[in-house]
Amino acid sequence: MKLLIVGGVAGGASAAARARRLSEDAEIIMFERGPDVSFANCGLPYYVGGEIAERKKLLVTTPELLRTRFKLDVRTRTSVEAIDRSAKKVRVRDLVSGREYEEAYDKLLLAPGAAPLRPPIPGIELPGIFTLRNLQDVDRIKERADQGLKQVVLLGGGFISLELAENFVRRGIATTVVEKNNQILTPFDPEMTTPIVEHLATKGVTLLLGQAAESFEQTADGLIVCLNSGKRLPTQLVVMGIGVRPENNLAVDAGLEVAPRGGIRVNEFLQTSDPDIYAVGDAIEVKDFVSGDPTQVPLAGPANRQGRIAADNICGRAVKYRGTQGTAILGFFDKTAAMTGASEKSLRRANRPFRKVYVHPAHHAGYYPGAEQMTLKIIFHPETGKLLGAQGVGGAGVDKRIDVLAVAIQAGMTVFDLEEMELSYAPQYGSAKDPINMAGFVAGGLLRGDHPQVDVEEVLATPENQRPFILDVRTVNEFSEGHIPDAVNIPIDELRSRLGEIPRDREVAAYCQVGQRGYLATRILQQAGLSVSNVGGGYKTYKLWRCQMIDR
Ligand code: FAD
Repeated sequence: MKLLIVGGVAGGASAAARARRLSEDAEIIMFERGPDVSFANCGLPYYVGGEIAERKKLLVTTPELLRTRFKLDVRTRTSVEAIDRSAKKVRVRDLVSGREYEEAYDKLLLAPGAAPLRPPIPGIELPGIFTLRNLQDVDRIKERADQGLKQVVLLGGGFISLELAENFVRRGIATTVVEKNNQILTPFDPEMTTPIVEHLATKGVTLLLGQAAESFEQTADGLIVCLNSGKRLPTQLVVMGIGVRPENNLAVDAGLEVAPRGGIRVNEFLQTSDPDIYAVGDAIEVKDFVSGDPTQVPLAGPANRQGRIAADNICGRAVKYRGTQGTAILGFFDKTAAMTGASEKSLRRANRPFRKVYVHPAHHAGYYPGAEQMTLKIIFHPETGKLLGAQGVGGAGVDKRIDVLAVAIQAGMTVFDLEEMELSYAPQYGSAKDPINMAGFVAGGLLRGDHPQVDVEEVLATPENQRPFILDVRTVNEFSEGHIPDAVNIPIDELRSRLGEIPRDREVAAYCQVGQRGYLATRILQQAGLSVSNVGGGYKTYKLWRCQMIDR
C-alpha cells in the first residue's frame, strides 16, 4: 500500500507514525510545505515570551528521526498542488528547486490544517502586521520583540491572542487586545470570561471590546491601527488572531465535498466523499460530540487523535471517530479558564433545553494553606440530568475538574453520577466533597426539587417593579461590602426569628455569597410556606453577570 500524506504537523505526523506501526510494508510519503515537521504550534507564544528559551525545544521531532525510526519518506519544503482522483495521483512541487512531479497513491490523507484569517483591511500588507501559525511566523514576531518593541496590538481576543498578551506583558511591552465582539474567548459563556477580563486589567493589558480594526497606517516609527470606534492605536507590531480558515483548496479543486464553513466533509471513519482519500485536523468538519451537529473545532488533541484513527482505517482497522467535544484550556498568568462540551449560548442558539448551576469552591481544603478559589459551571439536561457541558475559571485545580467533567460527558454521565464520584483527596489536593461532587449536589438537588433556583440574569432582566423580593442572607458586613440592588438583608442565623419581615404575597429570591446559605434559606422559607427560589451561585455569580449585563 502506498500512502501519501499532505501536511506534516499534528494530524499528518500522527497518522504517518501510526500507519508505520501498523504496517512495516507500506510506502509512506509525508509532504510538508514548510521546513519543519511535527513542531509545537501550541508552544509558540511561550517562545515569544522566553518561557520556552530554546527554539529547538519547539521541534517535537525532526524529519531525520521520522526517516530513521519510522522509515518515513519525509519531504519538507514540498507542496502538494493538485489531486487527480481518477488517476489516483497528486502533483507535487519542490519549493526549493521549483521542480514539479507526480506521485501515485493507493490512499491519500489530507492534513493541511487551517490558515489564520487575514481579511482585506486597507493597509494589511504593511510591514509589522503578522499572523502566528509556524516557526517562521514566530521568528518574525520574536525578532520584532527583541528589537526593543514598545507597543503591540493583538487583534482578536481568542486563545492565541491572550497567550501572546501574557508573553508580551512578561517582556514589559505595552499590550492592547482588540476584540470585535463584546466578549473575549467566544467559545465560553460571557459571564465565565469576567474573571479573565478583570485579570487582564490587573496585569496591565488594555482590552478594547466591541471594536475592530478598520485600516492600518504607516508612521515614521511603526503603524497606527485605526479602529471603527475612531480610536487610533500607535504600535510597532500587530498580530492578527481573529480565527482560522480550513486549508481546503486541494479538496475543493478535486471536487471533494466541503461544508459551507469550509471544512472538508468526512464520515465517521474520517473518509472524504472519495473513499480513498481521508482527511483530519483543522481542515475538516466534525460532529459535535454533544449535539451531533456538524462543527469545526481547530484543536491539537482532536487533530492528533483523528490522525491516529485515519491511519487505523487506512491500514484496515475499522475505527470510528466519536466526534469533538471542544475541550479547551487557557492559562493566563496564574489563572486558568477551561471548558468542555456545549456552552449555554450554543444550547440557547440551538433552542435546546438545559439547566445550569454554578459553584465557587476552593481547589483544595480551605484549612490547608494556599487554597485558590474557582468558579465551576455545569450545564445539564433539565429532565435526565445528563451532563452537556462544563466551564471553569479560577486558579489551581480548574484543569483537573474540567478534565474529569470531560470524561463524564464522554461517558454519558448525569449530575447524579457527579454526586457519587469518588475522587482522590488529601487536603493539599482537594476536599472530601470535591468541587465536582459539590456541583453534582447542587444540580441533583435542583432536579429533585429540593431547592428551586432562579438564575441571576433572569432576575436582572426582569423589570424592577416585577422583580421578586430579593433577600440577602449573608452577614451585615458582607452585605455592606456590596449587594444586589434592592436586596433586603436578613442574615441566615436570624432568618427563623424574622420571618414576619418577608412578604408572603410575593415571590422571594434568596441569595448568599456562593449559594450554600441561600439553599438553607430556601429550605427554611419553603417549609414556612413561602414561595422562594435560591439565586443560583449567589452574589459571586451575580458579579460575573453584572460585568456583562450592567457595567458595559
Ligand atoms: P497543522 O498542525 O496546522 O499542520 C498542517 C500542515 O500542513 C502545515 O504545516 C502546512 O504547512 C501543511 N500544508 C498545508 N497544505 C499543504 C500542502 N498543500 N502541501 C504540503 N503541506 C501542506 N490547540 C490546542 O489544542 N491547544 C493549544 O494550546 C493550542 N495552541 C496553539 C497555539 C498556536 C500559536 C497555534 C497556531 C495553534 C494552537 N493550537 C492549539 C491549535 C493546534 O495547533 C491545531 O489545532 C493543530 O496543529 C491542527 O493540526 P493539523 O495537523 O490539522 O494542522
